[in-house]
Amino acid sequence: MTADALNAPTPAFLAALRDRLGPQGLREGDAAAPYLREPRDTSQGQAALVVRPGSVEEVSHIVRACAEARVALVPYSGGTGLVGGQVRPEGPPCVLISVERLNRVRALHPDDDAMICEAGVILADAQAAAASVDRLFPLSIASEGTARIGGVLGTNAGGVNVLRYGMTRDLCLGLEAVLPDGSVFNGLKRLRKDNTGYDLRHLLIGAEGSLGVITAAALRLHPRPAEISAAFVAVPSPAAALELLHLLRGRVGEQVSAFELMQGSGIRFCLDEIPGARCPLDPVPEWSALVEVGGGAGSGAAEALEAALEEAFEKGLALDGALAQSEQQRADFWRLRETIPEANRKIGSIASHDISAPLSEVASFVTAASERLLREAPDIRINAFGHLGDGNLHYNLFPAKGRKREDYANIKPVLTRIVHDLIDAHGGSISAEHGIGRFKTADLVHYGDPAKLAAMRAIKDALDPAGIMNPGAVLG
Ligand SMILES: Cc1cc2nc3c(=O)[nH]c(=O)nc-3n(C[C@H](O)[C@H](O)[C@H](O)COP(=O)(O)OP(=O)(O)OC[C@H]3O[C@@H](n4cnc5c(N)ncnc54)[C@H](O)[C@@H]3O)c2cc1C
Repeated sequence: MTADALNAPTPAFLAALRDRLGPQGLREGDAAAPYLREPRDTSQGQAALVVRPGSVEEVSHIVRACAEARVALVPYSGGTGLVGGQVRPEGPPCVLISVERLNRVRALHPDDDAMICEAGVILADAQAAAASVDRLFPLSIASEGTARIGGVLGTNAGGVNVLRYGMTRDLCLGLEAVLPDGSVFNGLKRLRKDNTGYDLRHLLIGAEGSLGVITAAALRLHPRPAEISAAFVAVPSPAAALELLHLLRGRVGEQVSAFELMQGSGIRFCLDEIPGARCPLDPVPEWSALVEVGGGAGSGAAEALEAALEEAFEKGLALDGALAQSEQQRADFWRLRETIPEANRKIGSIASHDISAPLSEVASFVTAASERLLREAPDIRINAFGHLGDGNLHYNLFPAKGRKREDYANIKPVLTRIVHDLIDAHGGSISAEHGIGRFKTADLVHYGDPAKLAAMRAIKDALDPAGIMNPGAVLG
């Protein structure tokens, strides 16, 4: 079913929804505007109505009504997605369904290392709920104060702790969701093992709202590390950073929870654009790594990190470094890393790429990409940063000082093609953690495996024959 077959909602359809949901279940006019904004202001969404259901039954009613009337429905949680999945600029006006009122932590099960959160719970609140029973919900992303559980599941978000704890998919034991015909999938099990046929949970996670509306999840919790230690380390190159990662994992083992790479350009963007930003090392290194380890009481994680770093200095894998001496200093290290996206936004990128490669290919990709890009556009500035421990870099291109991103509009597609062709040639992915949304649908077709794409289309047609769920996202 194509988006052409979809209908604009009629006045009678909208009136019926208004009646059913009442004023607190609706946002219209100026109040709807914030839901239609794309975080980087690259596109403008539109919707006939923003609905805010207060229960799973209301979600089911809305989905069923849209399916019967063939009206497009766009799921929306925190609105921080970076690939346009929650922003629908094209086609007949849609209904945008915000899950923000489904915001209860329904149950905490510390004995099961699990908790049940509704889709509208803000990620930072989910982390706090887990901490309140002395457990860790380890998903951590810079947008955690705004992103919500429905969105992090919808995008299968990654973040800074994937190295140790996995992607959101690995942190979800069960799901409750409304499927495209309005039926409710009650899959909120807290089981580690459940081999009972196709796993609908894993289909819905990362589907970016194209297969249903997630309403709640059983989330997996972990022990809270009693000892946490972090270091900010200058490294000679990305290749050395990877050697350092292997050395650390060899010495400290699974306790290494984060290994973030930063390029000097990105740190300088923060120093220029973010009031109060400070780099722990002087001068700003061309490449640095933020490393964090955590273990149980008496695990000696901090001592193990210090010993491993000494070895790294001896081997020339570290050039300079600072070990966090207090919780405040550790938070400062992270603040610098986490303000890089904000500084990037203030400067305005020509093009941003969320790529991943096998660890062994990352360094050669970085070298090849900068050589090739600077041949094409010699004055651009490159800021590569991100979750090196997962082979995932945010590889972003910026205008020369004094120039604007608009000056490069004509070569932007060429630059992106260079990055994506190269990452593909290195056995990597054109979307490591942000998803496909609307911005990368052509890339998915270009780089995706044909058999996988055909299976994805068949699944979409089977579950959503009316094509109402987030049309235009993922499969275009
Ligand atoms: C500063 C910043 C830093 C970021 N850092 C990271 C990072 O480190 N790692 C990372 O992975 N991402 C990162 N992101 C991207 C973004 O925060 C994540 O993609 C996040 O998971 C989106 O959650 P959200 O609640 O804002 O979802 P939204 O933006 O509302 O939606 C995202 C997608 O999920 C779908 N969706 C929303 N709710 C539901 C639901 N209830 N059921 C089904 N589908 C739904 C939407 O239709 C859309 O396709 C960052 C974004 C920003 C702005």
